[in-house]
Amino acid sequence: MFGFEVDPWQLRWNELDAEQIPRTESLFALSNGHIGMRGSLEEGEPIGEPGTYLNGLYELRALPYAESGYGYPESGQTIINVTDGKIIRLLVEDEPMDLRYGRTLEHTRTLDLRSGTLRRTTVWESPVGHKVRISTERLVSFTNRAIAAIKYEVEALDDNLKIVIQSDLLANEPIGKFAKDPRLAEMPEAPLVNDFATSRNRWAVLVHHTKMSGLRVAAGMDHEWELPSTGESFVRSEGDLARLTLAAHVPQGRKLSLTKYIGYGWSARRSVPAVRAQVDAALAMAMEVGWDTLLSEQRSYLDDFWRDADVELEGDAELQQAVRFAMFHVLQAGARGEARSIGAKGLTGSGYDGHTFWDTETFVLPVLTYTSPAAAREVLRWRHSTLDKARNRASELGQFGAMFPWRSINGDECSSYWPAGTAAVHITADIAHATAKYLNATHDKEFEAECGLELLVECARLWLSVGHFDGNGRFRIDGITGPDEYTAVVNNNVYTNLMAEQNLRDAAAVCSRNPDLAREFGVTVEEIADWEIRAERIFLPYNETLGVHEQSEEFTQLKEWDFEASKDKYPLLLNYPYFDLYRKQVVKQADLVLALYLRGDAFTPEEKRRNFDYYERITVRDSSLSAWSQGVMAAEVGYLDLAYDYLVETAFTDLHDIHNNVAAGLHIAAMAGTWLGCVAGFGGMRDYDGNITFAPRLPPRITYLSFRMLVGGSKILVAIDGDNTIYRLLFGPPVTLKHHGEEFELDGHPVTLPIPPLTPHEPPAQPIGREPYRRSELR
Ligand code: BGC
Repeated sequence: MFGFEVDPWQLRWNELDAEQIPRTESLFALSNGHIGMRGSLEEGEPIGEPGTYLNGLYELRALPYAESGYGYPESGQTIINVTDGKIIRLLVEDEPMDLRYGRTLEHTRTLDLRSGTLRRTTVWESPVGHKVRISTERLVSFTNRAIAAIKYEVEALDDNLKIVIQSDLLANEPIGKFAKDPRLAEMPEAPLVNDFATSRNRWAVLVHHTKMSGLRVAAGMDHEWELPSTGESFVRSEGDLARLTLAAHVPQGRKLSLTKYIGYGWSARRSVPAVRAQVDAALAMAMEVGWDTLLSEQRSYLDDFWRDADVELEGDAELQQAVRFAMFHVLQAGARGEARSIGAKGLTGSGYDGHTFWDTETFVLPVLTYTSPAAAREVLRWRHSTLDKARNRASELGQFGAMFPWRSINGDECSSYWPAGTAAVHITADIAHATAKYLNATHDKEFEAECGLELLVECARLWLSVGHFDGNGRFRIDGITGPDEYTAVVNNNVYTNLMAEQNLRDAAAVCSRNPDLAREFGVTVEEIADWEIRAERIFLPYNETLGVHEQSEEFTQLKEWDFEASKDKYPLLLNYPYFDLYRKQVVKQADLVLALYLRGDAFTPEEKRRNFDYYERITVRDSSLSAWSQGVMAAEVGYLDLAYDYLVETAFTDLHDIHNNVAAGLHIAAMAGTWLGCVAGFGGMRDYDGNITFAPRLPPRITYLSFRMLVGGSKILVAIDGDNTIYRLLFGPPVTLKHHGEEFELDGHPVTLPIPPLTPHEPPAQPIGREPYRRSELR
């Protein structure tokens, strides 16, 4: 385990342990939602996984089936490492700078959450004893979406030195292979074919296309430098490599300083000259703006973000750091995607092939909706742009309405595993849910008319085709998979049914608000009535004897899992066959418990507590998506210490590499869950049908918590201490809120309300070997 210095606004790592490099590449990744760059060292090696990604750019690959079936997707998509512009190689008196050789006397890397840059200082002594200090700073610009930039400085420490710098654009870099794990990517080797290469003076451009998917990508670089004495420079480009070389004598105590601007563009349609022109233009603008302005724009973009989104907490400094780190990466994943999606790993690694899952709508979008709503809107616009594919998929499978893919980059289904892929139809309800939440929170009428109504309607139509009334007049949804992937192809999963019910109601509501528009999409009064009656009659299986809801019909009749036998075999998916998992009561991740939160309006407080207790004992959290929602519900039913433990587990998912796979990229949904753990957990924030309510209560370890939220054009600040909560309206019209069930109006005057006492209850135990992660025991 490696350690970071505790600092409220930075992540600083002072160690040099080559083993940890793949992990730090993910943690130190920079992204603006369009370009992503892993935090690899500028010198190119040692390296875990080289990673420069462009959102939406993928290569196709055949999906192998031992036994094929009707409707199985034929090809998959995989994120690729595009032309790498991060590389700046350094030669010190003929010796390539490589941390594996010579001696590293100092090595500090700092991700600065306010400046939005990754800084590094390395003092290195070459194998023959020449000492240099390398200082770098890197950014992926939030304000110039197509631009990344690196400032690279070398200081000669104890001699006059001959220094050579080679600044590269490199396509088709060799990719290391990870161990066999279904969560990792099948990255194609050398996916790019060169179309064009050019260079002049300080500048070069390479244009490639992907072999199978035929997408075109241009990468360009331009430079500025300051030399302490005279030097030589030349630039070359050929095929997969463009290189600027800079050679200079650097007197002792002096510095050579290079600023590299990197531009990217890609397109499915545009020609070579067009993508090249796009990159030329981006670079021209970056050169015009210059490094200092890029830096100051980056900072002010982040100042605005933190003003709207910061969460402050007292009592646990390391948790404070982790919460901000998480929010920073959530922002990075979505900030400038612009009608593109957010992958499960954002743009921090190739895990899960770069695919987007329900993670985006269920976990990430609620956070962006309240903190950075423009980014949330763009992701929903992307979903909307894939509606034709979702309609075609539904019709291919004999359904109507929209059937969104379980995993995808371009909107086509890429899951080759039916039971935990296409059968997980809840993703369509999740997309509807995120759409309705965004509309309720923003009152964005334009989006409602352009995309929102159509999304809600087409999603609602799916339930009419996949569900049916049984002989008892109950509306059932059979043969599907819910969020828990340790049961599959089940009937009446409560989560799916409740989310579908909400979708049916939201579709009816949006159509009533916009009758003319609804008619344009062929919605009739009869269709609305059909939705409403199905919503009313939705079937929620319940075990009267146990007094709990069935996660899916007859779930509680399944054989009990032997947790004692599996206590050191987590994650179970790597150690047990699905044949075993599917037939027993063992839950991979919050499913019914997630429903208790997202559809908390459908359960009584007693039902919540009984359900929570039952499912807590059999939930193993083999997915990083689980802990935060268990924490949110633990807080609601009164287990505050457990809620704190789950917030900690969520917040440190990646910083402490709890799932042992951070090298393949960050868990963006867990990062979002960190915010939800604070706001929905200890703030008790709920948003049912656009009515925002709070039920704040802090665990003993946290003495103060405050957060900001954008709600319907207003911004509010909620500040909680042990006894009281202060609500403030920071701007916008007055809002009506609830505090522990009491309604109040928040206008220009702060409102202070007491926190009612809590009757303590003993929380249930987790499966043996799956107690919440506790920092103290493991560090
Ligand atoms: C989880 C899914 C999730 C996927 C990507 C899986 O392990 O079970 O719910 O969508 O990871 O994060």
